[in-house]
Amino acid sequence: MLDFKKNQELIVDIISEGYEGEGVAKPEGFPIFVSGALKGEKVKIRLVKVSKNHGYGKLIEILEPSKERVEPVCPIYKRCGGCQLQHMSYEEQLRFKKNRVTDCLERIGKLKDVVIHPTLGMDNPLRYRNKVQLPVGRGETEPAIGFYAARSHEIINLQQCYIQHQVGDEVVQLTRSWMKEYNIQAYDEESGSGVVRHVMIRKGFKSGEAMVVLVTNTAKFPHKEEFINLIVQNIPDVKSIIQNINTKKTNVVLGLENITLWGSDTISDYIGPFKFNISPLSFFQVNPVQTEVLYGKTLEYAELTGEEVVFDAYCGTGTISLFLSQKARKVYGVEIIEAAIINARENAVLNGIENAEFFVGEAEKVIPELISQGKKADVVVVDPPRKGCEKSLIEAIAKMGPRRVVYVSCDPATLARDLAIFETLGYKTIEVQPVDMFPQTAHVECVALITRNI
Ligand code: SAH
Repeated sequence: MLDFKKNQELIVDIISEGYEGEGVAKPEGFPIFVSGALKGEKVKIRLVKVSKNHGYGKLIEILEPSKERVEPVCPIYKRCGGCQLQHMSYEEQLRFKKNRVTDCLERIGKLKDVVIHPTLGMDNPLRYRNKVQLPVGRGETEPAIGFYAARSHEIINLQQCYIQHQVGDEVVQLTRSWMKEYNIQAYDEESGSGVVRHVMIRKGFKSGEAMVVLVTNTAKFPHKEEFINLIVQNIPDVKSIIQNINTKKTNVVLGLENITLWGSDTISDYIGPFKFNISPLSFFQVNPVQTEVLYGKTLEYAELTGEEVVFDAYCGTGTISLFLSQKARKVYGVEIIEAAIINARENAVLNGIENAEFFVGEAEKVIPELISQGKKADVVVVDPPRKGCEKSLIEAIAKMGPRRVVYVSCDPATLARDLAIFETLGYKTIEVQPVDMFPQTAHVECVALITRNI
């Protein structure tokens, strides 16, 4: 066997891909991860890290490119940590995501006979995000505003971000020029000094309304009027300018205090027929176009006739609950964050929905409580965070015996684990639909349909 050493140069064939879309070579059976290399390519690499079971190679030269390789649209793609797949054709990105789901279901879930559909992609997989939140730091010649480089806190100064709505680029440039003109200090993570920490922009794709939030390290906002005037004069869609104060030494972006500097406290937007009021702190899906696709699939899999009682576990601000309520007799939403439940109740009122009720607490505690009070769901929807569902929740659901469970997942590995648990409890996974919520990035979202065996 070859003895692989750091700094050694090798020519390798990329035979598969890792979870982040990185290429994987296996000379002598030894896995080497090569960021930026694609399956099917022959590349020259330098080993930058070697451990017992695997290594990492830096791509030096592409000797035989894949036909799926494309020129990234973004000039800072290689340095910025925001996207991982811009060097892959969009068709290949969709295939990569489907393969990742298949791989997890087979290897982790040991599931067979599950139909995995081709990933539902976007017609235009750029400029899809309605929210951008960027750290501000001290660059060499001007304030640096941009994403961090991968696995680092170095801010890569950006002029344009091709996955955000254009208004984000305009606000970033205006903020930078305002900071330069009035010599406003950017926040310094090390010392905790400086004024401007983050800039956040939200844009309602259907309403057209834009919100600008400047997160400051100080209660004082120097040259406030100049900032407001600059934004209002240049961004005609702006409806709200907010100062968010965050004086803590933390990686959490937003503080708890919001001061509306200009316009209204919230902006509104729509998903499907439903209207939502959005404040700086409220959760709102970032890809509104694909959210409708995802929720549409969820509703289709739920197969509601109007008679059913539905549990929506991990309901967030109740968006899925509202979609389900159109076709169900009653929906019970459960979510751990109280502020989200307050939003969910407001959203129900705003949309005249009277058959949805919301509860604060851990789904694994609240759902068994609802069941013990005699509430029984015909259909259950779960949409957990990356770590997936608690086993006790899956057991409680299976014991109640709903006809169908619809599982919305942002991590195919934990999805596969949880589907396997359902299989041991009298349920079967019928089909999985990956939906591309985050084009150009390695994130994989999907909806699975699980039905009771008899
Ligand atoms: N279904 C929502 C949001 C899903 S994100 C939508 O489509 O918009 C996952 C949600 O699960 C988050 O809002 C998070 O706060 C919540 N959560 C995390 N752990 C939880 C738990 N143990 N019980 C209930 N909710 C939880």
